[in-house]
Amino acid sequence: MRTITLSNGKTVEVECLSCALTSGLIEPDGGVIIETEHFHAHQDVAYPIKGLVILASKRHIKCLDELTEEEKLDYINIMTNIRKAQREVLGIDYVYYFYNEDTTHHFHTWLVPRYDWMNEFGRSVESVRPVLLHARNNKNTEENQQKVMNAIEALRNALN
Ligand SMILES: [Zn+2]
Repeated sequence: MRTITLSNGKTVEVECLSCALTSGLIEPDGGVIIETEHFHAHQDVAYPIKGLVILASKRHIKCLDELTEEEKLDYINIMTNIRKAQREVLGIDYVYYFYNEDTTHHFHTWLVPRYDWMNEFGRSVESVRPVLLHARNNKNTEENQQKVMNAIEALRNALN
C-alpha cells in the first residue's frame, strides 16, 4: 500500500495510484481530460507544464506487450488524438513520450510537450527528469498553475 497526499491535504492509502485515478477513486486536479473504454488521460499538476498529459490504461498491467488487440487500437488512437489536440489548441510543436515498465503504479505514458525553456536541460531523454523537476520546483506559481488549468480545459474541450 502507498499513502498518497491529495491536493486538499487529505491522505489516502492505495495499492496502485493509476488504479485509483482511472477508477475515479481519486479525482486528479483539473479533472479527467478524456476517457475511453480502456484508457484515461489526466495531468499530474505537481508538474506544472502546460499540456503535459498522462495516459493510463484502466487495466492493471505494466508492459506494452500485455495490451490486448482492442487496447492497442484504443491506445494509439487516443494518444494520436491527444497529440493532435496539443498541436491544434496549444500550439505544441514537439512532444516527448515516456513510459517505464518497472513503474510502482501501472501502465501509463507521459506526453511531455517541449518548450524553449527546456533547452537548457539538454535534448532527448536525458533532459526529461531535470525538466520535470525544474517545473515542479520553479514554475509552481499561481499564474502558471492557472495556465496549466486553462490548458487542461482547452484539451478537454477539443477532445470531447
Ligand atoms: Zn493499477
